[in-house]
Amino acid sequence: MKIINGKKIASNLNEELKDRLQGLKKNKNIVPTLVVILIGNNPASKIYVKNKQIKADEVGIKSTVKMLSAETSEKDLLDCIDSYNNDNDIDAILVQLPLPSHINANKVTDAISYEKDVDGFNSKNIGLLAQGRPYIVPCTPLGCLKLLHTEVNLIGSKAIILGRSNIVGRPMSYLLTNQNATVTLAHSKTKNLKELCLDNDIIIAATGIPKMVKSDWVKEKAVIIDVGINQIDDKNHKKILVGDVDYSDVFSKVKAITPVPGGVGPMTIHCLMENTFKLSLLRRNLKYNF
Ligand code: NAD
Repeated sequence: MKIINGKKIASNLNEELKDRLQGLKKNKNIVPTLVVILIGNNPASKIYVKNKQIKADEVGIKSTVKMLSAETSEKDLLDCIDSYNNDNDIDAILVQLPLPSHINANKVTDAISYEKDVDGFNSKNIGLLAQGRPYIVPCTPLGCLKLLHTEVNLIGSKAIILGRSNIVGRPMSYLLTNQNATVTLAHSKTKNLKELCLDNDIIIAATGIPKMVKSDWVKEKAVIIDVGINQIDDKNHKKILVGDVDYSDVFSKVKAITPVPGGVGPMTIHCLMENTFKLSLLRRNLKYNF
């Protein structure tokens, strides 16, 4: 069994990206620019946005945060997005989710120009991914794919995804299908989940249910990507983070597994940086060859 060290893999990829960004600046005088729109005061969202800013700074991406109050109307948010769509200095736009309940998230993700849609949640980008001709791929599924590539040949493999959200499970299913895996997309209404898991070489867990996947769900030598990030109290009533997989229970049985924290999380941020870089090239019809 092996721990898939997402933190280390992401750190190496960030170093490579930093070099490419330096090349872009030196040769073309371009510094890709990301704008993050943050609505309201959700403490977790504030931390996520701060972490994105820190990583952007580290690799050499210019990032700005547009803070809007929780009372901002949907129309004002859509107008704000539109102004960034038309701003030639901006390469990538991210609206931090979740949004206040009076704002329709689908309207918002669809308002972002597909060419600046760094999260890849816009219905045009999801459609292109589903058709096997992606323009930009959502960050968490892309990070999971990069981790899988370090461990397993996906062609003809059997993979099950637990969870069908628009940000993780569904796009992950398209991505793995495009990679020639045979995919089962499971969800809260799926029957015989344990048996289905036992029949698969790869399990991607993204349900938000702490330690849901136990060792008797897992095939010998399976590869497991644990997307879940759940805060629970440990025996001493201390807050800890755990995944959707019971890590210590499955560990001796699997071929490889991502830890939580230090698995998928750092890869998601890396892919956000990579997507910003990629959008800045695509928008200018540049290929990476310098
Ligand atoms: P979500 O709540 O939007 O979706 C959960 C999905 O799980 C749903 O599709 C639901 O049908 C399915 N589900 C619920 N109960 C189930 C069950 N008993 N059996 C099978 N499927 C079941 O969640 P999300 O936004 O996709 O996030 C999932 C988890 O991943 C959360 O813990 C979240 O914090 C984490 N996450 C991590 C990252 C990262 O970068 N590491 C990114 C996004 C989400």
